[in-house]
Amino acid sequence: TRAALFQAQKMEAVGQLTGGIAHDFNNLLQAIGGSLETIERRLAAGRGDIEPYVTAARTSIDRATALTRRLLAFARRQPLKPERTDLKALVDELRDLIERSVGEAVRVETRLAPELWPIWADANQVEAALLNLAINARDAMPDGGRLTVRGANTHLDEAAVALEAGMQPGNYVLLDVADTGTGMPPEVLARAFEPFFTTKPVGQGTGLGLSQIYGFVRQSGGCVRIDSAVGQGTSVKLYLPRHQGAEKAEPTPEKAPDQPPP
Ligand code: ADP
Repeated sequence: TRAALFQAQKMEAVGQLTGGIAHDFNNLLQAIGGSLETIERRLAAGRGDIEPYVTAARTSIDRATALTRRLLAFARRQPLKPERTDLKALVDELRDLIERSVGEAVRVETRLAPELWPIWADANQVEAALLNLAINARDAMPDGGRLTVRGANTHLDEAAVALEAGMQPGNYVLLDVADTGTGMPPEVLARAFEPFFTTKPVGQGTGLGLSQIYGFVRQSGGCVRIDSAVGQGTSVKLYLPRHQGAEKAEPTPEKAPDQPPP
């Protein structure tokens, strides 16, 4: 029946969401663990310069709290809301956390075009995606390397979106997360977006990172593309729709009727 089908779809959505959140939560726990390890090492060596790592751990804990709130919000049937999101501010804010998540052997470079357009997407999801991609890049560079986060304004024409059902030609912001790691052989690349597909040992990979990113970006009206070469590295490109009406004046605070709850 229609109700049973709806129920099944709902259960599937709940499963995907909780799986995705568990995955993000795990990434944050790894970041906290990394900070604590450094703190322990420095304290054991009699060093007192631990403050940045305490701050990093605190930041990760705050993000984990935000994640569980998201789960609770879903349980209360509040759909995720896209919003006008400034990618540069978001990347700047996440940079320290990314650096600590990938470890000292990986050099992190950010290259964001000046005048980067604002995007129309759920900022929490973009953050989670960026963190997931950084962790994947780290896993692909066990001996270190370079992680480049690039942001650029781009136009996708009819031909460029032809293979993406429901996607419109137009203006997009490209968020490209590239590493100099192992790369993906064709058989891995072909399955990379599949939920639960992982090549990582049990306990390290859930196979939900890329599938969650794919789902969220497609739902936002964008698309994801992966370029990868074995032995050279991988570039994951998220095309996120430009925020429309960016040219118009922002509403003045007096005209905004509601203040968001604290
Ligand atoms: P997980 O990271 O938990 O395995 P993902 O869905 O994020 O799940 O990734 C699926 C698989 O795709 C990984 O197990 C890995 O084999 C491959 N992969 C993802 N990102 C990269 C990358 N940056 N470099 C090489 N392989 C990758």
